[in-house]
Amino acid sequence: FPVRMDDGTVKVFHGFRVQHNSVRGPGKGGIRYHPEVTLDETRALAALMTLKCSVLNLPYGGAKGGVICDPATMSLGELERLTRRYTVEIAPLIGPDTDIPAPDIGTNARVMAWVMDTYSKLKGYGCPAIVTGKPIEIGGSKGRLEATGRGCLINARSIMAHLGKELKGSVVAVQGFGNVGSVTARLLARDGCKVIGITDVFGGIYSEGGLDVEEVNRHCQQTGSVVGFPGSQSLNNAELLALKCDLLVPAASGNQIHATNASAVKASVVLEAANAPTTPEADEILRDKNILVVPDILANSGGVVVSYFEWVQGRQSFFWTEEEVNSQLERAMHAAFQDVLQTSVQRNMSLREAAYSVAVQRIATALDFRGIFP
Ligand code: NAD
Repeated sequence: FPVRMDDGTVKVFHGFRVQHNSVRGPGKGGIRYHPEVTLDETRALAALMTLKCSVLNLPYGGAKGGVICDPATMSLGELERLTRRYTVEIAPLIGPDTDIPAPDIGTNARVMAWVMDTYSKLKGYGCPAIVTGKPIEIGGSKGRLEATGRGCLINARSIMAHLGKELKGSVVAVQGFGNVGSVTARLLARDGCKVIGITDVFGGIYSEGGLDVEEVNRHCQQTGSVVGFPGSQSLNNAELLALKCDLLVPAASGNQIHATNASAVKASVVLEAANAPTTPEADEILRDKNILVVPDILANSGGVVVSYFEWVQGRQSFFWTEEEVNSQLERAMHAAFQDVLQTSVQRNMSLREAAYSVAVQRIATALDFRGIFP
């Protein structure tokens, strides 16, 4: 689709919207703006969304969208025109009852506001339930921004309880200090964990006695990185992943724990805050070392759960307090964790296999009941 750029030229962009499965409900999934977006990657991410929504028992299927572009090099006006035209192109496919987009890499609440406004203009009336992750002022949900990190905290409590340990006093290392990593680290620290190491794309910091995560956050907001936090020692990613700790939280990007570094991991639990941070080979190595892995589709699903709450609130035009959002999030995450844990124990499988098993079983059962049309 064509977009007029600031210099007057017209540039043609390629974008996708993939709906993977809608047996359990409308498609749900983010829109990614990144130079390396491909149709295949979008398909894979849509399939993961089907599984994530199913394991959390949300009444959704899976979808994903993407535009091949580099938002870092585009002006706000160019991004708005790109978003509005992309929305027009996918408008026949999306809808509050068919497919509900959300933010992903390279998109944010502002982009969702443009999607919502464009779709609403096409319809002739306001449609807040067409996207989630909107600004609160136009129907976004309280608690949405920190929902993924809060979901990680809830899973951390559950897995430590399963191991018969207290979360309070647990030693933690976090890779990545963006939306997910910074919220997770701060909530874990508030729950009494000792966060000894944090890395970001520029480097990392370590303190044997524990870092003051709120202060690290302030330092990061001022300088753009955790690097150079006063009183800390520096460490790199390889050293972070090899720290002796109770909880290792990869919250950066995919494929960070792989065949060559997995054997160095000394954590008792890996909590996958990022999407697909562990390669299949590394997964086997961690399993041989008796390291428990809380899989991504369970660990980082707090964001899609609160997206669901946002959609429900938008459809009812009835908005919840942050306490209500957080307590419903806790209920949903806790139930999903117990479903996965029980399956894992009963069927003697890893938490990842159990999460896939619970998800696929629910989709199969729904398909079975619905049957084949005509
Ligand atoms: P973000 O861009 O806000 O933060 C990413 C962080 O990782 C930054 O601190 C960056 O410096 C760091 N980083 C990047 N590459 C790194 C590397 N090689 N080593 C160490 N640190 C590195 O992104 P985010 O929204 O926090 O997402 C992080 C991960 O969580 C992604 O895999 C994303 O798909 C996944 N996720 C996010 C959400 C959400 O609600 N934001 C929901 C589910 C899953």
